[in-house]
Amino acid sequence: MIRIATAGFQHESNTFSTVPASLDKFRRSGILEGDAIRTEYASSRSTLAGFFAAAAAVPEVQLVPLLFTRLTPMGTITHDAITHIMDRAIAAIRAGGPWDAVLLPQHGAAVAETFRDADGEFIRRVREAVGPRVPVGVALDMHGNISRQMVDNADITTVYQTNPHLDAYEQASLCARLLLRMIKGEIRPRTAFCTPPLLVNILRQGTSDSPMANLLRIAEVERRRPGVLSLSVVEGYPYSDVAEMGMSFIAITDNDPPLAEQIARRLADAAWEMRAELNAGGTPVDAALTRAARAPAGPVVLFDVGDNVGGGSPGDSTILLHAARRLGIGGILQAIADADAVRACRAAGIGGRVEMPAGGKTDKMHGAPFAISGRVTALSDGRYEEPGPTHAGFRFFDDGPSAAVRTDDGYAIVLITNPGGTMSAQQFRSLGIEPRDAKIVVAKGVHSPRPAMEPIAREMIWVDTPGVTTANLATFAYRHRRVPLYPFEPNAMP
Ligand SMILES: [Zn+2]
Repeated sequence: MIRIATAGFQHESNTFSTVPASLDKFRRSGILEGDAIRTEYASSRSTLAGFFAAAAAVPEVQLVPLLFTRLTPMGTITHDAITHIMDRAIAAIRAGGPWDAVLLPQHGAAVAETFRDADGEFIRRVREAVGPRVPVGVALDMHGNISRQMVDNADITTVYQTNPHLDAYEQASLCARLLLRMIKGEIRPRTAFCTPPLLVNILRQGTSDSPMANLLRIAEVERRRPGVLSLSVVEGYPYSDVAEMGMSFIAITDNDPPLAEQIARRLADAAWEMRAELNAGGTPVDAALTRAARAPAGPVVLFDVGDNVGGGSPGDSTILLHAARRLGIGGILQAIADADAVRACRAAGIGGRVEMPAGGKTDKMHGAPFAISGRVTALSDGRYEEPGPTHAGFRFFDDGPSAAVRTDDGYAIVLITNPGGTMSAQQFRSLGIEPRDAKIVVAKGVHSPRPAMEPIAREMIWVDTPGVTTANLATFAYRHRRVPLYPFEPNAMP
């Protein structure tokens, strides 16, 4: 019997957000143990599902889920939370050992108050717990700000190669399969890690679009060379103020360090050549709304880049709604996270009237509260299931108690309790609203809403809204990032 442990946590920490990722929030999101992890994730297309499937394909392998938690991107992880999660995970790994290998379903952009490289610290502690000889495999998100500490303490590091993330399952399966080959002595993985001094603007991270698609085509050719086990292009996450913030490349070969080095360097050079294209901006607010209003047919989907919940923003921005009202543009469908407003709707009941401010309550960056008066059209518990493709392969969603309001001036506002991005059209349909019928749909996100919105959108516009996930990075005061780093220092040399 080959026994493999899996344990870990996933968080993308927006260090500019004012909302801390506290232990309480992780607990509410669920800190799962044992078979509860299998129940929640095995039927999804997420990283853990890939681990489970790869293990199930080999009869003599037993994958033992120990502990897993994930939390919607928001601010820095508190000391209490990171200590609690890491201590419990490491204790479970130590108690259940010895293991033949360990698989870690991490993200790569977790920042804690006490450990700025929280993923690296966790992987280091796992390595310390299992010793130098036990293979450690790590599967990461394409937004990881990868550190040397992470790759050096792992034998295999794989990373999603799509954004929106539709291959979490495949990359995790690859990680597990390589780890099994390593256990059997079939391969000797050697990793090269390269971090050119540049970042990729969030608006240029779509992997089906130029320039990222071009870079990934180069990677695909390199990946087919004999001896290459895995090659990862990592976009990085620009809203974590850490030294590792930015792009990186991970090449793994079968016992051929020079080849790994050569390939990682080749990709880094190619990315550097594309640096200007990798850092272009979006459409200004008024221009985007005017274009959407003039479109002959809807829905036109406006991506609220500054309030990208999947990137750590609060999900209660009212910037586009205020601008639409000022410009006299109606027909907008948008979700807003506002627990108070949901409570008021529940008190009014279906068909009841509400007059209240909604959204814009977390901070000043995301607009002032938006006054709505209208009728409650639906109430729900905010749970829905998306069997179709979703970002990172998740299937079950929980926005908390939710309500829909049709305002007197023609907006359809979905009010939700937990900050939720627009990752599934079910967010609207579960409240009786068909997004295909809307003239304009505001999607909270940049890439994660695409699987849901692309099939229904007549046109998609990425709007340069302010907020903690704005595409305009010059608005942030970075203190920990590398210097030089393109585009801040245009002459940064690789
Ligand atoms: Zn991501």
